[in-house]
Amino acid sequence: MSETIKSELVIGGEHRSSSDGATFEVRNPATNQLLANVPRATFDDTRAAIDFAEDAFEKWSETPAPARAEFLYKVGEMIRKNENELAEILTLEEGKALNESLAEVIEGYDTIMYIAAEGRRMWTYVSPSEQQDKTCMVIRRPVGIVGVVTPWNFPFSIPLWKIPPALVAGNTVVFKPASATPLIAQKIVSMFEKAGLPEGVLNFVTGPGSGVGETIVSDERVKVISFTGESTTGHHIAESNSRFFRRQVLELGGKNPIIVADDADLSVAVPAILYAGFSNCGQKCTAGSRVIVMENIHEKFVEQFVKGAKALRVGNGMKPGIQVGPLINEKAREKVEGYVEIGNSEGAKLSLGGKKFADQERKLGFFFEPTIFDEASNDMRISQEEIFGPVVSVIEAGDMYEAVQIANDTKYGLSSAVYTKDLRNAFETISKLRSGIGYVNQGPTGAEVHLPFGGLKETGSGRESGEAAIENYTEKKAIYVDYSYKVRPWFFTSDS
Ligand code: NAP
Repeated sequence: MSETIKSELVIGGEHRSSSDGATFEVRNPATNQLLANVPRATFDDTRAAIDFAEDAFEKWSETPAPARAEFLYKVGEMIRKNENELAEILTLEEGKALNESLAEVIEGYDTIMYIAAEGRRMWTYVSPSEQQDKTCMVIRRPVGIVGVVTPWNFPFSIPLWKIPPALVAGNTVVFKPASATPLIAQKIVSMFEKAGLPEGVLNFVTGPGSGVGETIVSDERVKVISFTGESTTGHHIAESNSRFFRRQVLELGGKNPIIVADDADLSVAVPAILYAGFSNCGQKCTAGSRVIVMENIHEKFVEQFVKGAKALRVGNGMKPGIQVGPLINEKAREKVEGYVEIGNSEGAKLSLGGKKFADQERKLGFFFEPTIFDEASNDMRISQEEIFGPVVSVIEAGDMYEAVQIANDTKYGLSSAVYTKDLRNAFETISKLRSGIGYVNQGPTGAEVHLPFGGLKETGSGRESGEAAIENYTEKKAIYVDYSYKVRPWFFTSDS
């Protein structure tokens, strides 16, 4: 796959370049090689995408939901059939190890197949009425145009958490992917086109968040913004949304704690915590970036954790056996380098890593050593701020009570985990941790598509996946049906 990949806007079913011909580059983060020149949509291009979504809405929203679901099933089949090609594009563009990309593609498949079945569910309820010969029911209606704005770190699965439920519920979509990963996003759109989705139902615009993203978010005709990204961007989008009383799904940052109790089996916990901290080079909203360890096992844990991290194979994710790929770009690497300086100046002990790689092959890309700060405290910036790189803080706690206090002392609240063999300890701890997702004897990553996903505090609002998916993209309408055909005793009558 050495040739560049073609990328086009898809507006009202038509493939277009940007109307002013402008493009931006997409590069492979492992090699810095050019992968594609991608259209930089203008304000008018983005408005046109919203116009087409508006035009297509009526017919699509009246299409029976099981018929809408058929398009999703077809895309699901295409994903499964082309999973290896999709995984390769994902790794080329985002950098994660090929087996992780494949897992992400399969998660996308699981999601779309799960959501397609909603075409025959979208359950609500029928309820009794206060009055005789009358019944009440709740139906779901689509909300309208959905603006889908996604990040680069899960560029296949996150759009598939959003687009399929929006479509099966009868909405039309304008999709803007992250500028670092528009190529795998284009593949998603092209599978929907191949499935025969009517023109204008799914529109695709690429370009910067400050231009294309802002245009979508500032357009009152867009009735739902489904956004995943940084908390700062989410705050800004929430302000726009409040102007229109608009429905929103905001899935934002994380600084996820893992508590290791003194009875934990370290032979199980350490490999899982390595995966939680360093897979996808730490670029996961659910990354386990704070490990809180009981002081009586702290030394033993750090010894094993550092040894395991040293042995991780870091390199081009396309190569067999690679476990950790590069950071997404130079800006991300500079950010991580900045946090290593901060950690050193705050007095944490750099037990491993802290540098970029200097060898011939890896210096081409944006690689960074798995980095462990031991003797960190929770008030340090390295323990509080989302670094979004391969940097883990290890923090000591005297007992489980203190560990929970430390874990909850963060502005984020996405995911958390506890390692222990004591069932009582596990349940007590997990129920006290302030996060949207909790894991016992598993790192804080690895959500399944039929459960709700999302967090508290600065991690945003709302949930995705599971039953939440349909809630996000439907309006519930209460309907009262009077089959008495009688005049009811109202408070006044027609002759009063
Ligand atoms: P980001 O910088 O906030 O960007 C996310 C998306 O928003 C991109 O498509 C971006 O476009 C666009 N955007 C930027 N500014 C915008 C604006 N003013 N108006 C509208 N759109 C705008 O986040 P990222 O760096 O791509 O992703 C990493 C972040 O996502 C991390 O904080 C991570 O924790 C979070 N995340 C959260 C979850 C979750 O479910 N909670 C999952 C994955 C990632 P450009 O790419 O063109 O800038």
